[in-house]
Amino acid sequence: MIERHFGEEGPPVPVIGQGTWRIDDSAHEDAIAALRAGLDAGLTHIDTAEMYGGAKAVVAEAIAGRRDEVFLVSKVVPGNASRRGVVAACEASLRRLGTDHLDSYLLHWPGQHPIEETIAGFEALMGVGKILSWGVSNFDVPDLEEALRVAGPGAIACNQVPYHLKERAIEHEVLPWCRRNGIVVVGYSPFGSGDFPGPRTTGGRALAAIAARHDTTPYGVALAFLTRLEGTLTIPKTATASRALENAAAGEVTLDAGDLAAIEAAFPLGKRPRTLPMI
Ligand code: NAP
Repeated sequence: MIERHFGEEGPPVPVIGQGTWRIDDSAHEDAIAALRAGLDAGLTHIDTAEMYGGAKAVVAEAIAGRRDEVFLVSKVVPGNASRRGVVAACEASLRRLGTDHLDSYLLHWPGQHPIEETIAGFEALMGVGKILSWGVSNFDVPDLEEALRVAGPGAIACNQVPYHLKERAIEHEVLPWCRRNGIVVVGYSPFGSGDFPGPRTTGGRALAAIAARHDTTPYGVALAFLTRLEGTLTIPKTATASRALENAAAGEVTLDAGDLAAIEAAFPLGKRPRTLPMI
């Protein structure tokens, strides 16, 4: 599977990872088995968040004994993102995740605390090795400009933003801006968070035709498309082990010009929305 650097100075990370939002809604054993199957197949980037409640216990159990294989990311809720709050929230999440460090820690979305405070909290955590990098999520270009002004070049590792076939807004400005500034873009909800194009829709039929040519599924085609551009990663969520393997296999799919044109026709980029959408 292709790997891309997690920020300018960051380690290479496989383009396909694993999300965990609502993974604790599924049967516990299924969720654990899915995450472990994903890890076995190379989906080593695991994304969780302070806000994801019981998902953290699922992650803790899935990665127990194999922390070194995992690139573990969590996110602080904006209401806790004061300088002291960031540190306290991180320490609580580390306890729940059963680990002593995060590979990256993100601000979940822009909030009421001045970004200077949040960044100071991240820097304090980096200083004691509790996080190895930090980033942001749901940041549009003006928020990114402000964070860059405060943090300086090279400090922001990633921006985690919505990116799926029906939501390609980041391609207008956010992705090019992040690429210019060495910030990796982690696309979330790659399957539309449960709103994947159905098999009887025009788009669904286009995906099925491409999938048949590449020995994959429409979901695999979506993942290949969403990681086709430099500077992008994706984090599909599944609580089903066989689907984790299917998602990992998509890392080997390379779409050709004809496939890309068919996807562009079925799922056009559309106009730039006034503000970056978020789920
Ligand atoms: P998603 O990954 O777009 O879609 C998840 C859905 O797709 C689940 O219903 C899952 O079913 C299904 N699925 C997964 N693989 C499949 C496959 N190969 N074939 C068929 N169905 C498949 O949804 P998401 O959870 O919204 O987004 C992914 C991750 O992004 C989250 O878990 C979270 O970590 C992150 N996220 C971040 C933010 C943010 O604000 N930063 C917001 C939203 C999401 P099963 O689980 O039943 O298998």
